[in-house]
Amino acid sequence: MKNESTHDAWNGKLPFYVAGTLPVSERTAIQRHLEGCETCRAELRQWQLLATAARSEAAAREVLLPPLSPVVRASLSRRPSAGEAVRSAVQLVWAQWRVLRVLLPGVVLVLLLGVLGTLALRDDPQAALPLLALAPIVAAVSVAFLHHSESDPAWEVVAATPTLTGALVFARLTLILTAIVIVMLGGSFAVSVVTGQLLASLIAAWLGPLLLLSALATVLAIRWTAAISAGVCLALWVTIISMLVKELAGDPLLTLSLQPLLDPGWVLFGGQLVAAALLWYLSLRLARGQLVLSGRLT
Ligand SMILES: [Zn+2]
Repeated sequence: MKNESTHDAWNGKLPFYVAGTLPVSERTAIQRHLEGCETCRAELRQWQLLATAARSEAAAREVLLPPLSPVVRASLSRRPSAGEAVRSAVQLVWAQWRVLRVLLPGVVLVLLLGVLGTLALRDDPQAALPLLALAPIVAAVSVAFLHHSESDPAWEVVAATPTLTGALVFARLTLILTAIVIVMLGGSFAVSVVTGQLLASLIAAWLGPLLLLSALATVLAIRWTAAISAGVCLALWVTIISMLVKELAGDPLLTLSLQPLLDPGWVLFGGQLVAAALLWYLSLRLARGQLVLSGRLT
């Protein structure tokens, strides 16, 4: 043994040499060392015996898996039909009910307060104000918190499910907005019956801003966080409503009147819908390809 330290270095690497996991340069070097070192050659034979035994043992226990069923194989490569796509979208929306069950009672309570407020102001020309003030911001804040690791009660399930973020966000959005809109329609109908106000203009007063602010909340929540989204929407909406209230009190802050918000015509309502659609299109673009992170460790 002419070189102790080289011998020690290569001797320790013999198992890796046998397993074939050494880089090429080390393989050549160890072969060179083996030529001149009987101790290492003897040990190498031991390792080779061990490796052969382990491999044949593993091979003996190996069970061939049955081939993938042709049905499964076909369903993996097939695109779903329109009917199936709709059914799976409905299932995805329905699966979000678990999350919304936590959120809905509070949302409904606040919206009912808005309806009661409007009923209390029934003879006032600004009767729609409580509905206008509450419905959009309740919807926007709910929407903002629908998709976030810190606020989502089902986040662990979400993180373990290979579903597109966009699909999930829009499934929840559909469900929460549908729920809010149903409550609000019921409330508006009650207000309209009690006060004799035109149902269509009552609905238009909250529906346009609700869709627009929710769309903004979606974009902000996807691009940044739920907290930023909720904060920005809240600040924006409180500002608009306070300016409207000041204007109604005869002390306008702007030269532009905000009163049309209370009784929007078709142009304002249509403008709100178009702006909301554009924002949702933007959020869809932002969410596309953002996989929900099957496997993301949070
Ligand atoms: Zn050696």
